[in-house]
Amino acid sequence: MGSVAQRDYYEVLGVARDASEADIKSAYRKLALKFHPDRNKDAGASDKFKEATEAYSVLSDESKRAQYDRFGHAGVGAGPGGGGVQFDINDILSQFSDVFGGGGGSIFETLFGFGRGGSGQGTRGRSLRAAVEIGLEEVLEGTERTLTLRRAETCASCSGSGAAPGAKVESCPTCRGRGAVAQQQGFFAVRTACPRCSGRGQTVSKACEGCGGEGRASKQSELRVRIPAGIESGAQIRLSGEGEAGAQSGPPGDLFVEVRVREREGFHRDGRELYVEVPISWPQAVLGDRIHVPTLDGEARMSVPAGTATGKLFRIRGQGLPPLHGGSRGDLMVRVFVNVPEKLNREQKSLVKRLFEIEQEQKSQESR
Ligand SMILES: [Zn+2]
Ligand SMILES: [Zn+2]
Repeated sequence: MGSVAQRDYYEVLGVARDASEADIKSAYRKLALKFHPDRNKDAGASDKFKEATEAYSVLSDESKRAQYDRFGHAGVGAGPGGGGVQFDINDILSQFSDVFGGGGGSIFETLFGFGRGGSGQGTRGRSLRAAVEIGLEEVLEGTERTLTLRRAETCASCSGSGAAPGAKVESCPTCRGRGAVAQQQGFFAVRTACPRCSGRGQTVSKACEGCGGEGRASKQSELRVRIPAGIESGAQIRLSGEGEAGAQSGPPGDLFVEVRVREREGFHRDGRELYVEVPISWPQAVLGDRIHVPTLDGEARMSVPAGTATGKLFRIRGQGLPPLHGGSRGDLMVRVFVNVPEKLNREQKSLVKRLFEIEQEQKSQESR
């Protein structure tokens, strides 16, 4: 949860916001060659490489790019409250085999902590999904929710090792203690976790009774989730490491929380702007008036000038919604429509009749 502002992905790759797929690809290729940690030993080169790779993984994927354009870093799981963008290394390796060569996978493992096996780690835990619903008015300040989830958590009796107390730890015979086995995948030899020891490189003589040697057990737990102000319906919050615990001390998965924003009757949202429709009477439209307008957190007053046509749009500044990463609220757009009464009393009727007659007289005078 770093507080350092994350650079814009387009800026990172040095491309325009409407850059084509090919532009994005060639921009990343250049940066990957320039900052490849095997070639460039400068301090900061590997950070630049990571940054570019993350930017490329988002902008090269049509749906992630659309999410990013709309919601910024948070839309793709990056930035505060996120934890990192998820992507498939094999995708990038196969697209840029000329840049990375056959052994490319290990760079990503080192830099991103992807991949498994070989480092004494077990299998990564599953990522989980959850959904929460919030009211439109909660978008103003942001809110919190408590999630109750059932997930595999690290076994308390063995601290995740899977070994019974006093059990002997032996080197795994299948992978000879390396934890990983090599597998050919297209151009690359991809190392995967050893199936026998789940990548730990070790086996134990007696398994923990609490978890049967898996190192984790199913448990119900509660988790507070902070939902930022300005969030759009459908946005996902990524809670890094809050998925299921990994088997045998493997890294945990992540938790993805989808936020749905309930619609509120009378209000329509478009980004930071809120639209509301307000009826006015025919005399108010003709003569002008000060009217009451509902807002998300109360009510505002607004002047309707004399001679206002039905459907006219007015703007009340600062009564819309805040943007996702802080900043001033958008505007409330008020569309007025003229209510034509279905019933009139005798007096009203005679006044309108009189008005009608005046109009007719004017017309006949003009046509003369
Ligand atoms: Zn255990
Ligand atoms: Zn093994």
